[in-house]
Amino acid sequence: MPPIISVENLSKTYATGLPALKSIDLSIDRGEIFALLGPNGAGKTTLISILCGIVTPSEGRASIDGHDIVRDYRAARALVGLVPQELTTDHFESVWSTTSFSRGLFGKPKDPAKIERILRDLSLWEKKDAQIRTLSGGMKRRVLIAKALAHEPRVLFLDEPTAGVDVGLRRDMWALVRGLRETGVTIILTTHYIEEAEEMADRVGVILGGEIILTEDKAALMAKLGQKQLTLQLAE
Ligand code: ATP
Repeated sequence: MPPIISVENLSKTYATGLPALKSIDLSIDRGEIFALLGPNGAGKTTLISILCGIVTPSEGRASIDGHDIVRDYRAARALVGLVPQELTTDHFESVWSTTSFSRGLFGKPKDPAKIERILRDLSLWEKKDAQIRTLSGGMKRRVLIAKALAHEPRVLFLDEPTAGVDVGLRRDMWALVRGLRETGVTIILTTHYIEEAEEMADRVGVILGGEIILTEDKAALMAKLGQKQLTLQLAE
């Protein structure tokens, strides 16, 4: 099977003139949970924004399930779901209506059974009629995941899913992500936390200064992170 995500020589320089990504090569297999681990400003959000068709690369190529994200961006976009860092959503909408609306944005026919499945998988079913503003921070984050999954993407991107979240909720999120992989979706997440990458991912890419400096399965990575220098570079 060819990889679901294939990235070659991908670079991005924003209008400021400073390179945010420098010649990234990466390939991600179907069904993998892949963590992009790196400190503030490393380029994690830029990479996933390019892969979601939100930011245009300056150079290089990337494809999602064979669809070029620049030339064939409509098809590529339909195959991905993005959970952004910020808790942005319509606070006066209900959980059901916002999830259902997100599906419609991709031109998918209404399918209440699919929305029900997604809400049940995320333990949101009991809250389906609740206005989002009444939910806890953890539940709001689940609503963002429901919205991202509503059009049944093959790849789910989670941008710092546990930023600003306490340890208990972080553990809930880890369990949730592991559960989601059972639905067959490939998951790519960004994180600052080494223990989070270790806990959730099959494979980890360490990103620093716009470059992927290491791509390893998590056991090999943990062995390397024993080396003091890398640990220090990643420490917040
Ligand atoms: P964080 O963990 O803080 O979210 P990150 O690893 O996701 O960081 P990016 O947000 O991708 O990093 O930023 C990479 C570099 O690109 C940084 O130097 C940042 O200042 C710069 N950058 C990001 N977005 C823009 C933009 N829209 N315009 C100009 N520069 C940007």
